[in-house]
Amino acid sequence: MASIAAAQVQEVRSITRIERIGAHSHIRGLGLDDSLEPRAVSQGMVGQKMARKAAGVILQMIREGKIAGRAVLLAGQPGTGKTAIAMGLAQALGPDTPFTSMAEALTQSIRKSIGIRIKEESEIIEGEVVEIVVERAAGGGGARVQAGDVITIDKATGKINKLGRSFARARDYDATGQQARFVQCPEGELQKRKEVVHTVTLHEIDINGKVAEWREEGKAEMIPGVLFIDEAHMLDIECFSYLNRALESETAPVVIMATNRGITRIRGTNYKSPHGIPLDLLDRMIIVPTSPYSHQELREILNIRCEEEDCQMSSDALTVLTRVATETSLRYSIQLITTASLVAKRRKATEVSMEDVKKVYSLFLDEHRSEQFLKEYQDEFMF
Ligand code: ATP
Repeated sequence: MASIAAAQVQEVRSITRIERIGAHSHIRGLGLDDSLEPRAVSQGMVGQKMARKAAGVILQMIREGKIAGRAVLLAGQPGTGKTAIAMGLAQALGPDTPFTSMAEALTQSIRKSIGIRIKEESEIIEGEVVEIVVERAAGGGGARVQAGDVITIDKATGKINKLGRSFARARDYDATGQQARFVQCPEGELQKRKEVVHTVTLHEIDINGKVAEWREEGKAEMIPGVLFIDEAHMLDIECFSYLNRALESETAPVVIMATNRGITRIRGTNYKSPHGIPLDLLDRMIIVPTSPYSHQELREILNIRCEEEDCQMSSDALTVLTRVATETSLRYSIQLITTASLVAKRRKATEVSMEDVKKVYSLFLDEHRSEQFLKEYQDEFMF
């Protein structure tokens, strides 16, 4: 069990590692203070204060278990940080929280978004002398071992020694029973932790049988993860009705959807609705709008991305890049950081200059210029 769980934890971590170098790797939380007010620039987050504040309220609801049966919809123009906020929320929920973006079949995604924390009591191995810390006083009549006592057990003889003095038999103090709880430690090293905690995700284990059993025994607890569905208007009516039902389940993750569409057709039907989402589902959603960034906020986000990519950029290069973000898109200008940085490296410069930014701007097209290009030369393309 332990080795399987360890392998699974590793798998979860390797996914996180891939994400770390991704587009949102600078996001480390929602950037809120203790009273859930958004800080101007914090944890990689800039601006978008209302949406971050709303996400903070949702965070509280999740923590208090009040989100069941509901979903969150982030609605706003492209590049206004919908994905960033969903990731920030998952990070704020804790390092164990699985974050899955829906790139695969729905069932698989939902199962991946449920974490199971498994606690295992460590056992004291026969025949070994171990040094332990008693975490609770031994029960029964006249406890002779107190919390905090440092004792050793010689399991070959079953003797417990306190400060080198033999005073009780090991079997009197059951590791799992009501009495003193023991922790096995390497000899000579004190350790207060009494349980080993693994995190696995639901799709990796037989859910119905095993998890119910573990929860009953108090060995496992559910960690609601975040299932993020970008471009929610791309789902069709069958997916929506599946989700509607899935949200009712006790093991449902927190579903966060994002869309940049207004009134549009619900896929698989001839009906139109806000964001292309059926009204019955929309009705149980908490809708958070995101709005475009100011010039200064864009500059700040680009600056954070430069730091994230270890890229030194001159102030006027950052000014040009910010203008590019205003005129094209934030995502496009973020991509130019990497390419401009490579260009600077090739000319053995330590800092990206304005010319480097201009060069990559002319080398790589943004969406609008790419469309212009296609229109101009459309007769020469194959159809
Ligand atoms: P789309 O509608 O196109 O999916 P989106 O609203 O999900 O866009 P993001 O992908 O979150 O937008 O944002 C684009 C880039 O800008 C990402 O790299 C994201 O991490 C970064 N970003 C967006 N908003 C913020 C913010 N408030 N603070 C810091 N970084 C941000």
